[in-house]
Amino acid sequence: MGRRTLLVTGGAGFIGGNFALMATGEHEVVNLDALTYAGNLETIQPIFTSPDHIFIQGSIGDADLVSTLLSQYRPRAVVNFAAETHVDRSIDSPEPFVTTNVVATQRLLHAALAHWRSLEGEERDAFRFLHVSTDEVYGALGATGAFTEESPYRPNSPYAASKAASDHFVRAYNRTYGLPTLTTNCSNNYGPYQFPEKLIPLVISAALAGRSLPVYGDGGQVRDWLFVEDHCRAIFRVLEAGAPGEVYNVGGGAERTNLETVKTICALLDRLVPDSPYAPHERLIEFVPDRPGHDRRYAIDASKIERELGWTPSESFESGLEKTVRWYLANREWSEAVLEGKYGGERLGRGEEP
Ligand code: NAD
Repeated sequence: MGRRTLLVTGGAGFIGGNFALMATGEHEVVNLDALTYAGNLETIQPIFTSPDHIFIQGSIGDADLVSTLLSQYRPRAVVNFAAETHVDRSIDSPEPFVTTNVVATQRLLHAALAHWRSLEGEERDAFRFLHVSTDEVYGALGATGAFTEESPYRPNSPYAASKAASDHFVRAYNRTYGLPTLTTNCSNNYGPYQFPEKLIPLVISAALAGRSLPVYGDGGQVRDWLFVEDHCRAIFRVLEAGAPGEVYNVGGGAERTNLETVKTICALLDRLVPDSPYAPHERLIEFVPDRPGHDRRYAIDASKIERELGWTPSESFESGLEKTVRWYLANREWSEAVLEGKYGGERLGRGEEP
């Protein structure tokens, strides 16, 4: 893809932040983020003063703001990462998930539609609305099989239900109004800058501090993991070559039980922090009651994006996880700062987390 202007939403979060870091320079990035507890300016600090990065604090639900940004910067694409994303939070309090993931996303789509309709010629043909979504919309699998783009939607958590609704709106804006949309449904991501409430960074930070490592139920839930930079590369590829109206599943082909994942992190920490007073870290594992509606297994069939767009992940789970653990070891102050709520948003209520 040649140099473009991209309106990236949620670009101070985990995946959007990694995407903004990768895109800025090669492209101009207009980064719209509401800076909820999950958004951190520290993540995008390396590009903050770049002439190719424009940060705007605001909501995707603010139609006037979005319309102004679209007409001012005339991006080639909107890449929508903005969302409420934490399953446990959605169980405690589903409403913000509807407000952001459904209502605000529909407003963003509507503003994008009005803008696209105002374009002409090549600019109109090139415009794309890329919606970043999750494999959790498909629900859970049994012991075998994998989700394809044709799998029925069966969301089980309020988070998944809200993302499923947003995916349906994206589809409807394509089918009803012709907006050139693209949707990606990706498996679990991990990597640098992930908010430490999610499994992998939570386990790394807790193990380094000698706290217990909570594992839901028997730890036998299977997840398909993808290194965040591989996800970002998939998004670039879909932007460049995806067919409007299409959906692409993105996955790492790395199925692991949660218990295996936690044990792998413990082994990495034993090796990388040999003088840790808490080694061997596996002894910190503590089984806690399972989450309600907890999906047993997710697995992604990513053969469509591999076949049609030539994308494959470059990191194995082991190499990506080692990079991730090394990053958290080198950036402990980042985790501490985001947990203290130093870079925007409320302080995380640690007592409520697993
Ligand atoms: P995140 O929670 O780390 O970041 C979300 C970002 O969106 C934050 O910076 C937050 O401030 C911002 N935001 C929230 N509400 C907003 C609003 N109304 N307007 C503007 N910005 C707003 O999330 P993430 O893990 O980076 O996920 C990004 C996207 O990718 C989400 O749509 C998520 O559903 C999807 N996804 C995530 C994963 C994963 O494993 N993390 C996997 C597949 C898909």
